[in-house]
Amino acid sequence: MIEELKNLVKEYLPNANLALIEKAYNFASNAHYCQTRASGEPYINHCFNTAKILTELKLDEATICAALLHDVLEDTLVVREELKEEFGEEITTLVEGVTKINSYKFNDNITEQAENWRKMLLAVVKDTRVIIIKLADRLHNMRTIKYLPPDKQKEISIETLTLYTPFAHRLGIYKWKSELEDLIFEVLQPTKYHEIKSKWEARSESNLKNLEIVEKQIQEKIDPLNIEYRILARPKNLYGIYRKMQRQEKPFSAIQDLFGLRVITDTKEHCYAILSVVQSEFNILENSFTDYIAVPKANMYQSLHITINSDQNVIVEIQIRTEEMHRRAEYGIAAHWRYKEAFNKNGAANLKQTDINMEHHLEFIKHILESQKDVKDSNEFLTAIKTECNFDQIYVTTPKGDAIKLPEGATALDFAYAVHSDIGDRCMGVKVDGKIVPLDYKLKTGQRCEALVRKNIRPTENWLSIAITAQARSRIRKYLREHKKK
Ligand code: MN
Repeated sequence: MIEELKNLVKEYLPNANLALIEKAYNFASNAHYCQTRASGEPYINHCFNTAKILTELKLDEATICAALLHDVLEDTLVVREELKEEFGEEITTLVEGVTKINSYKFNDNITEQAENWRKMLLAVVKDTRVIIIKLADRLHNMRTIKYLPPDKQKEISIETLTLYTPFAHRLGIYKWKSELEDLIFEVLQPTKYHEIKSKWEARSESNLKNLEIVEKQIQEKIDPLNIEYRILARPKNLYGIYRKMQRQEKPFSAIQDLFGLRVITDTKEHCYAILSVVQSEFNILENSFTDYIAVPKANMYQSLHITINSDQNVIVEIQIRTEEMHRRAEYGIAAHWRYKEAFNKNGAANLKQTDINMEHHLEFIKHILESQKDVKDSNEFLTAIKTECNFDQIYVTTPKGDAIKLPEGATALDFAYAVHSDIGDRCMGVKVDGKIVPLDYKLKTGQRCEALVRKNIRPTENWLSIAITAQARSRIRKYLREHKKK
C-alpha cells in the first residue's frame, strides 16, 4: 500500500518528501496495530484509502500525512505531543482539526447544532484542508458502510447528507458529492434506489449505443475546426435522476437526458467555436442553452450547457468547457491549489489561503458567519446555513447588465438588498422584465430586475417573512433593532 501511495504522490509532486509519507504510514500502522474495521480488514486500510482518495485532488504531502494519521489521536494511545515531535506543527494541527470535527455531534438540540456548525465553519475558514480530509474519510466510510448495522448506517448517512454533501457541493468537489449522494440514497431509500438502478440498467444499453452515434456525429463536425478537444460520455448519478423525477413530477420513463456528453478543449474561444458548430448542425431543444462561462455559478463552475435532440431522437445534454474549467468542475476548491502550485518552483504545494478563486469558494461561509453577528436565535442561524448551502442558485441581471446570484426561492426584496443594503431599506417594488412586481415575488434565472426606491419607505417586521437571504435578513433585523431603541 505504501508503495502505491508513494507512486501516486510522486506523479504530481516529483519533489515530495516520500520518506515523511512512509514514516506517517508506519506510525499509523503501529498505532492502529491489531485494530480492525467492521469489514474485518486491518484498520490501516482505512487510513491508506483516505490518503489515496486525497491524491485524486493532488493535495500536498502534509495533507497526505495527516490523512494517514487522521484517526490516531481519537482511536489510539498516541497523544498530541508525540505527534508534534514526530511530524511537526502543521501535520499535527491538521490531525487535531479532523479529530475536533468528529467530536461535534449533530443531534436534535438546536442550540448545540448551531454552535457546532459555527465551530465547523470557523475551522474551514482557518484551514480548508481539514474539511477536505474529513470528506475523504467520510467517502471511504460510506463506501464501506454495508458492514455496519442498519441503524448505524442510517445515522451516518443522515449526518453525511446534512453536513458533508453540502460542503462537498459548496467547495465544488462534484465528483465526491455525486458519489456520496448515491451511497446515501442506497441506504436511506433502498427500494427507490434499486428501482431506478434496474430501470437505468435496462435502458442504458440502447442509450449508450445512441450516445456513441451522437458522439461520432459531433466529432465529424468538430474535426474540421482543427482544434484540440476530447469527448467524455457522462452518466448522471442515480440520485440526480431521482431528484429530477421528483422536481418535474415525472416517472422514470419520462426522463430523457440520462446521459450527457462533455466536450473539453483548450481555450475559451474554442468552447464558443464548438458551441456554434453544435448550434448550426443539431436540433437544439428550446431554452436549453446556458452560458456559465460568461456568468459562472456561485461556486465558480463554468461551462456552456446545451441540449440537443439527435437524429435518432435521443436527448443529450452537451457541456462544453476548457481543461481548467473541467478540473474545477470536478474538484472545485482543490483545483485552485493545484493551479497555484504550477507557479511554485520548489514543487511543494503552496496552500496560503489568499487565492482569489479560493476566496470565492469560502465567501458563502463568511456570509453566514457575518450574518450570525446579528442573529442571536439558533433557529434563524440554522435557516441561514441551509439557505446559503442551498443546492440551486438563480441569476438575474441589473439594468446595467451585471449578473446577481441569489439562492433559489429568493424574492424581489432579496434582489434589492443584494444590489445595495440602502436600496433594500428603501425598496417599494421591483421592475422585472419591465413589469412592476411586489416584494415577495419569487425571481427566476435570466430575469432583468430594477429595484424601485422611495425616500419614505422603511423596513417592517413583515419583511422578515419575505426575505430569505442571510444578507437581507440581517440588515432588516439591524434596522428594526435600531429603530425600536429610538
Ligand atoms: Mn476515519
